[in-house]
Amino acid sequence: MNDTGGYSLMVHGGAGALDNVKDEKTALRYLESVRRVLEHGRDVMELGGSALQAVEACASLLEDDPAFNAGCGSVLNESGKVEMDAAIMDGRDLSAGSVAAVDNIANPIQLARFVMTESEHVMLISEGAMRFADHCGMERVPEDYFYTPDRVEQLRQARLKRKIMLDHDDTEEDAEDQKYGTIGAIARDTEGNLAAATSTGGIVNKRMGRVGDSPIIGAGVYADNETCAVSATGFGEDFMRCVLSKTISDLMYMKGMDAKRATEAGIEYLARKVKGRGGVIVIDKHGNCSSGFTTKKMIHGWIEKNGETFCRF
Ligand code: ASP
Repeated sequence: MNDTGGYSLMVHGGAGALDNVKDEKTALRYLESVRRVLEHGRDVMELGGSALQAVEACASLLEDDPAFNAGCGSVLNESGKVEMDAAIMDGRDLSAGSVAAVDNIANPIQLARFVMTESEHVMLISEGAMRFADHCGMERVPEDYFYTPDRVEQLRQARLKRKIMLDHDDTEEDAEDQKYGTIGAIARDTEGNLAAATSTGGIVNKRMGRVGDSPIIGAGVYADNETCAVSATGFGEDFMRCVLSKTISDLMYMKGMDAKRATEAGIEYLARKVKGRGGVIVIDKHGNCSSGFTTKKMIHGWIEKNGETFCRF
């Protein structure tokens, strides 16, 4: 494509009430994480890396940070187990890879990348996905890699309340339990190529075998060089029913909207059709960055067209 319009990069760390982020120290902790990851993504881009390399690198770093609900910080399901979902997409040719209900690997986003590049499939789940991880030589990590005291307590609270919860739930009563969030990374490189990645532990106390929007191409993740890159976070069921990431791409493809207008229209659709709870980050084909959410907050940050780094809730 040889477009020299510069690179853009966005990441998110989940949407919700985030009322636990009351004190400055906690807020800074999140913002610093997001900034560090964005700066790493900037280095990848500055060294000539592709959008795909940048999103995989950023998503992997976020998975390695226990502050977020992905990789080592994943929430626990009804059986007290971790089942993670992740997907990655390359906007150059719509190639995509995704995994669902996987455990015992540190970086599900890397397994999703292997599904995309080393298999003839788009999605692998559960045991089959884990066998494929072995085949690809991915190291297995022990169960205790995931069990942080916070996650165990969070599941205990959810069980007491007999409910499933978004990691950053949106009600006052649950606010204290909500500390972490699903992660996503999207990028446009200097050649105009777009890529997107989303990774999550899902929602707290979810049924065993439940799969959310994050690994569903078009729901929690989407990238197409002709339109945009999108990563979503929130109640997966809402995003799946609206196929929200692809809807935002279609708004650009069919109605010629830019990132800001398509994000607003997509979020309006999510709210009106299913009272959806969550948010999205979006980069359009020109490198414009945009975000929108129906929750009180969404942890996110961006670098637009080689510019400064911004992080906010
Ligand atoms: N979307 C994720 C899911 O439903 C959860 C999240 O974004 O926090 O699995």
